Amino acid sequence: MARAPARVLGAGLMGRLLACALAERGHAVELFDAGGPDGSGAAAHVAASMLAPLAESAATELPVVRMGLHALERWPALLAALPSPVFFQRQGTLVLWHRQDAAEAARLQQQLARTAQQLAPPSGLPALQTLDGAAIEALEPALARRFEQGLFLPGEGQLDNRALLAALGRRLQDLGVSLHWHSPQTLAPARAGAPAADGWCFDCRGLGARPDWPGLRGVRGEVLRVHAPEVRLQRPVRLLHPRYPLYIAPKPDGVFVIGATEIESDDRSPVSVRSTLELLSAAYAVHPAFAEARILELSTQLRPTRPDNLPALRLPAPRCLQINGLYRHGFLVAPALLDAALEWVDHGRSPLAAAFGLPVDAPAD
Ligand SMILES: Cc1cc2nc3c(=O)[nH]c(=O)nc-3n(C[C@H](O)[C@H](O)[C@H](O)COP(=O)(O)OP(=O)(O)OC[C@H]3O[C@@H](n4cnc5c(N)ncnc54)[C@H](O)[C@@H]3O)c2cc1C
Repeated sequence: MARAPARVLGAGLMGRLLACALAERGHAVELFDAGGPDGSGAAAHVAASMLAPLAESAATELPVVRMGLHALERWPALLAALPSPVFFQRQGTLVLWHRQDAAEAARLQQQLARTAQQLAPPSGLPALQTLDGAAIEALEPALARRFEQGLFLPGEGQLDNRALLAALGRRLQDLGVSLHWHSPQTLAPARAGAPAADGWCFDCRGLGARPDWPGLRGVRGEVLRVHAPEVRLQRPVRLLHPRYPLYIAPKPDGVFVIGATEIESDDRSPVSVRSTLELLSAAYAVHPAFAEARILELSTQLRPTRPDNLPALRLPAPRCLQINGLYRHGFLVAPALLDAALEWVDHGRSPLAAAFGLPVDAPAD
C-alpha cells in the first residue's frame, strides 16, 4: 500500500532520524532545513552525545530515563543501517569528585538510588559500583592516584554526533529523500492544509519552532573540542562540583568534548572567557596532560527546552506532528521519540509514549 507523502521540517538530529525512518517505510519524503547539509545550525552539531540515562537522572525525570534506556538498545540497529560507521560505545560513565565535593557525591548517590527504586521494569543495566582509588585506576589507568573515590555506571554509552549527522545525510540521499537546504520553513502551510493536504508534516525544527510552540526556550550551552592524544580515557568522565559540573567525553582520534555550561539565556554569542577558564581548569584538574591539548573549537548552541524540561509530542492538526523539547538529552531520547512518532503515524496512538510517560498533546478523539 502506498504511504502518504511526508514533509519534515528541520534536519538536525530528530529530523534526519525521522526522515530516514519514514523513507525506509515507503513514504515519499521531503526534508527542509534552514541551514546546510553539515548540520552546523543544529544543537546536535556541538553536543557531547553522551547516552547516560542514570547519570542524567540527577538532572531530569523518569520519562527521560525510560526513553534513554530504550534508546541505548535501539541505537546499534539504527547505526547498522547507515552507509558509514559511527563511533558508538557502551563502556559506562565514570563519576569523580574531589574530597571537598563529597556532599555533591552523596546527593548524587541518593538520587541514583531513588531512580533505580522507581524504575519499573528495572533498568536492565548492571548495578552501579562505588570505586576506591585502585578501582578507578583499574578502569582508567590514566587517572591513577588522582582521585580517591568515584562511581561507575556500567552500560551507559556515547556516540560521535558529527559522524552520525554525516552518515544520516548520506542515508537520506541513498533513500532518495528530496533535500532542501537553506530553506527555512514555517508550519503555517501544512496547518492550513495547503501543500501537504494529503500527507504528513513533521516539525523537528528545534528552537526554530518557537513561533509555533508556546513556552519553548533556549538554554545556552558552551563546549570545547580539544585534541589531546596524550590523554587516554576509555569512557565519559564526569567531575562533580557545586558550581562547575563538568564532563569530558572522548571521541575518536584523540579528540575530547569538554562541557558544558548551562545558562538560562538565548544568547548565541561566542563562548565567554569565564566559561573557557572554568571548563579548561576543571579538565586540567581531572588530568594535567590537558595542559598540552590543542583547542580545536569553542562552540555555543541553544538547547531547545520546554517549560518542564521534558521532550514532548504535539499534534496541533490532523497529520501534523511536532517533536520538540529535547533539551540536553536529544541523543539520549531520540530513538524513543522516533519509535513513538512512528506508532502515531501507523495507529493514531502510541503505547510507547504512554509507557515512557512522554507528554503528548493531541486533540481528543
Ligand atoms: C552544548 C550541548 C551539549 C549537549 N550534549 C548532549 C549529550 O551529551 N547528550 C544528549 O543526549 N544530548 C546533548 N545535547 C542535546 C542535543 O544536542 C539536543 O537535544 C538535540 O540536538 C535536539 O535535536 P533537535 O533535532 O530537536 O534540534 P536540533 O539538533 O537543534 O536541529 C534543529 C534543526 O532545525 C533547523 N531549523 C531551525 N529553524 C528552521 C526553520 N524555520 N525551517 C527549517 N529548519 C529549521 C536547524 O537548522 C537545525 O538543523 C547537547 C546540546 C548542547 C547545546
